[in-house]
Amino acid sequence: MSDVLLVNITWNPTGWRNTYINPRAGHEYARQNAGHESLNFKFDKRNIDTEKFIHGFVQWTNPPTKFQNGGLIIFYTRNIDDNKGQVVGVYGKSQIIEPQQHFVVNGFQNNRYSINIRAEKQFSILFPVPLPADNYKAKSSDRMVPQVGFTYKDSVFAEKILYDELIELSIAGVLQSDYKKLSDIYEYYLGKKFELPYRSQDEKEQEELAQFYKKAKTKEEILDDLKNLQPTDSEEIFVNQKTYKRDNKTIAQIKILRDFKCQICGTTIIKKDDGKYIEAAHIKAKHQKGRETLDNIILLCPNHHKEFDLGDRMIKSHDSNFIEFVLNGQQYKISLTTGQ
Ligand SMILES: [Zn+2]
Repeated sequence: MSDVLLVNITWNPTGWRNTYINPRAGHEYARQNAGHESLNFKFDKRNIDTEKFIHGFVQWTNPPTKFQNGGLIIFYTRNIDDNKGQVVGVYGKSQIIEPQQHFVVNGFQNNRYSINIRAEKQFSILFPVPLPADNYKAKSSDRMVPQVGFTYKDSVFAEKILYDELIELSIAGVLQSDYKKLSDIYEYYLGKKFELPYRSQDEKEQEELAQFYKKAKTKEEILDDLKNLQPTDSEEIFVNQKTYKRDNKTIAQIKILRDFKCQICGTTIIKKDDGKYIEAAHIKAKHQKGRETLDNIILLCPNHHKEFDLGDRMIKSHDSNFIEFVLNGQQYKISLTTGQ
């Protein structure tokens, strides 16, 4: 038995979050009916949803007989503009509806076959920030879930998905009600409260590596290292018999090179253990494939980091030495090598 199910709702192409008819769709059904993937997340469908339940449809040849009713259904789709897979929402306290019931209920566009799952509304949500499927696969060419059907998953997978979405929501400043709902789902399935990490594993690695490289290398050597960074370098590095992410090594080196200073206001936060704290912001965001390189990272104090991510920002020019941008009406020109 499994109480976590990953299902595929890749049916009609693109724009799937809106309920609309796509006259250019590759599928006859989709040229005549609104894309019904999105209906899985419309919470008050006429004739089928109730106060307590939401109903949905997943295409499968054989139903997931090993799924334990009351479990969590996680939705995957590839129906997005760049044709990449995303994890887009969950149904909690869900049930597979028995085949004979299909014929009783008129569901998505009155297609009598189209209702086969039901879940509690209070435990179901369309993710405000979709999660890139690549984050959960060894290789981006791997298939996360069959085109038609489902994959059984475990609570480790469920935790990853719910945790990552909660982190995204805490950054994005979405509705309090969505955040609360997702925290409740997390707590229900994992038996513990969700807590925002005080400090991520990445930051911890960066601090350890910074201590090491400060002693081991001069700034000139570090600059040389950073300039000769190859995209093909191994993802992992070994330092003092421990394995670290290469990205964290790069960020640690950039912090040393630029003296742990905010590149907007010059602030350094001094910690009680004598260490220094500064944050690394990606100019091109990580989810847009922005890499950890000298010319894609600027160091910012926590205030300027949030302003940089959330404020009204326009990049005027950007090359390997400098970036010029306007942020909330202020103009900045910032060095992307040594920070001077
Ligand atoms: Zn600052």
